[in-house]
Amino acid sequence: MTSPGPEVVPESRGLNDLAQEIHDTALDHGWWVEDEWREFGTMLALIHSEVSEALEADREHGKVAWHKPGEKPEGVPSELADVIIRVLDLTAAYGIDIESAVLEKMAYNDTRAHKHGGKAY
Ligand SMILES: [Mg+2]
Repeated sequence: MTSPGPEVVPESRGLNDLAQEIHDTALDHGWWVEDEWREFGTMLALIHSEVSEALEADREHGKVAWHKPGEKPEGVPSELADVIIRVLDLTAAYGIDIESAVLEKMAYNDTRAHKHGGKAY
């Protein structure tokens, strides 16, 4: 017996492709227009605000996700998704190859000492 599985399986994409798709959506919704270019520092602050929203969601509800039909997704998973979406929007807007940067950093991290040489956290 086989499981029917999901009707539509999302196509797997690389991180840079995902970043460009996220940025294209932002452009379609009126962000990043020429006379309202988004400053790098402002975008970093907005990324931080999403991290804070994840913290508050966890404090109030734990790590659950929920949404009412037709309304926006809520909870820690959704706020963490906002963090990733904002980071990828920023990298696409500023021409940062985040996919290579992540892979490079992962390879470097693999070479690091146990707890990075004795750090407490
Ligand atoms: Mg949010």
